[in-house]
Amino acid sequence: MWRPRVGQPTRRPNPTGPIRRRRGWRCRSRPRSPSRPARVVSSCPKAVAQMRERLHSPEQGQRGAIRALRSQISTPSSPPRCRASHGLGRGGGPVAEKAVVVGSGPGAATAAMVLAEAGWDVVVFEKGRNYFSDLTEPAPGTLFSNDELKMLRGFGGPDTEGEPRAFRSTADDPEPLEVGFVNNLPTTVGGGSAHWDAKVPRFWDIDFEKLTRLGPIDGADVVDWPVSYSEMAPYYDAVEQLIGVQGDGDGWAAVAGKYAPRSRAFPMPPGPAQLASLLLAEGAGATGLHPYSYPAAVASQPYDGRPACINCGFCSGFGCPIHDRGSALIPLRRALLSGRAELRPDSMVTRIEHDGSSATGVRWVGSDGAEHTESADFVVLGGGAVESPRLVLLSDVGDDSGWIGGGIMFHWFSDGFGIWLDQRLHGYRGRSFSHGLDDFCDPDFPGAREAAAEVGLPYLRGGILEMGGTSHLIQEALQYVDLMEIFDADKPFGRRFKELMRLSALRDRLAGMQMIAEDLCQQANRVDLDPSITDRYGLPAARVTYHPHLYELTAQQFYMPHMEALAKAAGADVSGAVAQTGTPQAPSPTGETTPSGAHLMGGLRMGTDPSNSATDGFGRLWSIQNVGVADAAVFPTSGAHNPTLTIFAIALRNARSWAGLEGPPELAVDDEGDRGADSGVPVGLVVAGAAGGAAVIAGGAAALAARKRRASAHGSETAEDGTADGSGPEPLSS
Ligand SMILES: Cc1cc2nc3c(=O)[nH]c(=O)nc-3n(C[C@H](O)[C@H](O)[C@H](O)COP(=O)(O)OP(=O)(O)OC[C@H]3O[C@@H](n4cnc5c(N)ncnc54)[C@H](O)[C@@H]3O)c2cc1C
Ligand code: SF4
Repeated sequence: MWRPRVGQPTRRPNPTGPIRRRRGWRCRSRPRSPSRPARVVSSCPKAVAQMRERLHSPEQGQRGAIRALRSQISTPSSPPRCRASHGLGRGGGPVAEKAVVVGSGPGAATAAMVLAEAGWDVVVFEKGRNYFSDLTEPAPGTLFSNDELKMLRGFGGPDTEGEPRAFRSTADDPEPLEVGFVNNLPTTVGGGSAHWDAKVPRFWDIDFEKLTRLGPIDGADVVDWPVSYSEMAPYYDAVEQLIGVQGDGDGWAAVAGKYAPRSRAFPMPPGPAQLASLLLAEGAGATGLHPYSYPAAVASQPYDGRPACINCGFCSGFGCPIHDRGSALIPLRRALLSGRAELRPDSMVTRIEHDGSSATGVRWVGSDGAEHTESADFVVLGGGAVESPRLVLLSDVGDDSGWIGGGIMFHWFSDGFGIWLDQRLHGYRGRSFSHGLDDFCDPDFPGAREAAAEVGLPYLRGGILEMGGTSHLIQEALQYVDLMEIFDADKPFGRRFKELMRLSALRDRLAGMQMIAEDLCQQANRVDLDPSITDRYGLPAARVTYHPHLYELTAQQFYMPHMEALAKAAGADVSGAVAQTGTPQAPSPTGETTPSGAHLMGGLRMGTDPSNSATDGFGRLWSIQNVGVADAAVFPTSGAHNPTLTIFAIALRNARSWAGLEGPPELAVDDEGDRGADSGVPVGLVVAGAAGGAAVIAGGAAALAARKRRASAHGSETAEDGTADGSGPEPLSS
């Protein structure tokens, strides 16, 4: 449940100034021969030379790293080339032949897949590094590992000193309130999905028709999406097949079925349940709520060439060491396998080249520090909800409506917990959590309309509640150091510290919860260019101006007591709930003053009217129609659920329209033989924790019942393997 902040502590930047622009070799678009294979490194000779140099450099001493980098320059064979059809796209746009894709996160990778498989030539520029080996493999080697320290140091995260963002609360703030980390997502091949833990609920029908179904709210820019849930449903189906989603169709909560009906089963059954999740779920049920096995893009069985999850316990905030977890790498792989796509990591796109009405390509800076131009018929922006608007603003694209950069949204996070003093829960093992509930997303939740009316709002929605999980070892230690410093600043260590670690009240006896709540769209909450802060490329940094609406603050206050109540009902000895997202005016008890929940949306919102949106009904810039946006920036509202399944699905829909393809696809996975795939666990990468993980979380309801029997009979703890009697895993009946 706990998420390490991916990045570095906020600091004033020390930009080294602009990178000198050099003339010389430019990457040009070259005709590709049918047999020219997909490559996952730059085609720039200099960059390849540097890569080779790195392979032989002593600093890159890790053998795994060298192997991984070496295999990047392997040349997989390419399937026969198919031509793109000429004509007009469904939205009236041109069908092009070459696209440049900015970024390689969920949205960008999906667009790259669609366009490459439709026969376009595609070049994917990713400013982050590539920590994977041959990306045409279903489960490539990776430098991500189960190493808490490495992740706390920001491995795969953004460089918030070299690429800082600025934050202010309102346009009246004379100076930024923070500079550095402002809800940055990971900067690596795969984008945020390299670190995510892959909860993938769908948005509800009322999210797509928010204005029509729920009505306007003063001070907010509530609109309908230019697409309905029923149109999106087949795209959700397709993405769930593509990335491999586990879920429990039978145990699906009635409220979820009402607002997001499914016509297709989940591709996989749920994996083993977690004890900490089940305990809280039981408490939730006792208070009249409806918990269920939460959908996750985590393979519960071998799927599409990927192994099943081994419940290693290092999920949220860590790269999955065995790639059972679905991510942007899956569509990216398909793009590369098409033989039409090329990935260029370490390549920052700095400007969209255009003549005012049509884009001609992009400018980009490679790892050699030199600036290049890449021509293209179509430019896809997939840099995420802050970087995509920033790139449009850096490119001097006209903005008549004021919506370029406008309407940035961050989900509102609240943390709840229960502590069981007489029992160890091992909530740090397995996936982040196994059970969640949707009740708080319902505007008709008992008491929600009354609470809204009290503050003059027409309705109120919280968000999904993730239940289970806890922190890891180093994070726990840091919490005790913080606590001990309050009493004895000179000695936050020693015997007492050891006692705290042994007791482990904040890790091994704690079951956490997190509500991820809707954030209303307000045009004034925006991304623009900071007038004085620049990044390491010498470009103006993104400045985020964000002030919450009364809606988010009221929902947070309304639902936190419900979180505490369910932990109490579950039998916790100590329970509570605190705001995680805070503002400069009202910092959260956890010290947050800037949203940091890793769910960013809006900034180039889609719409049917150029006067109140930045992109059209298929995510293309109104002013430059051969620029399409394929990431969370197109969201007109934030929904009350984790956003990324919707990012994949809307990118799939829109990219298909850019390619002139009709309707949703059937994204078949390679089923033959793959279901029996060996886990192929790279043993060296999986450290202690994995071994006991599967055993500890297994057992489901049977283990919970047995645990209770044992606890009541003996008043003692759960056995060390997490099951009731130490007998290890029992199969979960779904
Ligand atoms: C720890 C963690 C856990 C999470 N868990 C979940 C979860 O369970 N469920 C869920 O739905 N979401 C989760 N998320 C959020 C999820 O990762 C994001 O919603 C998602 O990745 C956003 O996708 P995107 O396509 O909008 O952009 P991103 O994933 O941000 O990808 C953008 C990419 O573009 C690159 N880029 C940006 N600008 C440029 C440029 N100018 N040139 C070249 N490259 C550029 C970036 O480096 C980045 O790799 C989690 C995030 C984190 C960090
Ligand atoms: S628990 Fe470990 S193995 Fe399973 S999906 Fe998460 S990171 Fe991968």
